Amino acid sequence: MDKKNEALHINKGIERPPIINPMALIQFRIKKQKKHPVSYYVNGICSGNRTILSQAITLVESRNPRHNKIAQQIIEGCLPASGKSVRIGVTGVPGVGKSTFIETFGRHIIRCGKKLAVLAIDPSSERSKGSILGDKTRMEKLSAEQNAFIRPSPAAGSLGGVANKTRETIILCEAAGFDTIFVETVGVGQSETTVHSMVDFFLLLMLAGAGDELQGIKRGIMEMADSIVITKADSGNEKKAEMAKVEYQNALHLFPEASSAWHPKVLTCSAVKNTGIEEIWKLIQDFVEHTTNNDFFQHNRQKQAKHWMYETINENLKNNFYQDPVRKKTIADYEAKILSGNLSPFMAAKRMLNDYFQNKVQ
Ligand code: GDP
Repeated sequence: MDKKNEALHINKGIERPPIINPMALIQFRIKKQKKHPVSYYVNGICSGNRTILSQAITLVESRNPRHNKIAQQIIEGCLPASGKSVRIGVTGVPGVGKSTFIETFGRHIIRCGKKLAVLAIDPSSERSKGSILGDKTRMEKLSAEQNAFIRPSPAAGSLGGVANKTRETIILCEAAGFDTIFVETVGVGQSETTVHSMVDFFLLLMLAGAGDELQGIKRGIMEMADSIVITKADSGNEKKAEMAKVEYQNALHLFPEASSAWHPKVLTCSAVKNTGIEEIWKLIQDFVEHTTNNDFFQHNRQKQAKHWMYETINENLKNNFYQDPVRKKTIADYEAKILSGNLSPFMAAKRMLNDYFQNKVQ
């Protein structure tokens, strides 16, 4: 019988929308916050007050322009105290073991005397869904640590917008004394490149025996990695992990040398059995030493700062254009003209831009 007509056929459901609008939640939280002068936030953050740090991040994440204005002043005030950290990007496909790794690795780093902030970039996330870090229970032990600060991804939005907020949050966390920052991202598409442009060290987690294509890891992403770590090297999986290690190490040899002059290394670990963890931390420290000695560390930070200025300009121009009431009204007309063949897409774009920029577009 046709499967569709079977009585027992179960239709694929649709995802349940969040019960509470995540943006409304942010605005609500801010409303509950008393109005404070900028100095209250800057002094609070710089003295390591986590509650005030959280409040300031909420202002950074808000979509209310008034909050963003205060947030910018807070960031400016915190800037002199920022920058003194090692920023580490952690990526890999869902299921590779990112949260488990961050929990074990994070606790190790804290035992070494570090203060750790864990941030995330996931443009598809809504806080209530807890798709990435949103669900604190995923890192229960780490979040209970006095010297750990975990913040889920800013609510869903464009990748550029979400990433900008994470970058600003890095500055605040550093000013609050966090000397190690993790930025976690889901290994699907563009977000790795974005995270790579805001961290010092880029760590790619991979599964043994799953194949690069299956894991959706493109060559370009492997090329960005300062280290590849094969996860879940335990419970009889050790040999497979070792084999994958050799395979990836060979593959990495084929890439041209990075401008950091660092040779990326492949390691294996088990976050559950706590093996290989120390070696990864040692490797990151070696990297920092190597790149500090050859000036790449500082040079790369400067390059990234420039990059983020341009990104912010692009993001703001785009938002300003599309949120402009006149553009909102006319854009549908232009779309219709294109579809009916009365206007080329290029002409339509140019006319709209000229309207907006008052004939300054060539
Ligand atoms: P994420 O989606 O990348 O954050 O992955 P999770 O950390 O949620 O892990 C996905 C699954 O892999 C969970 O069932 C974990 O228990 C399991 N897992 C994670 N790390 C390890 C490990 O080191 N060894 C084993 N055997 N399982 C692990």
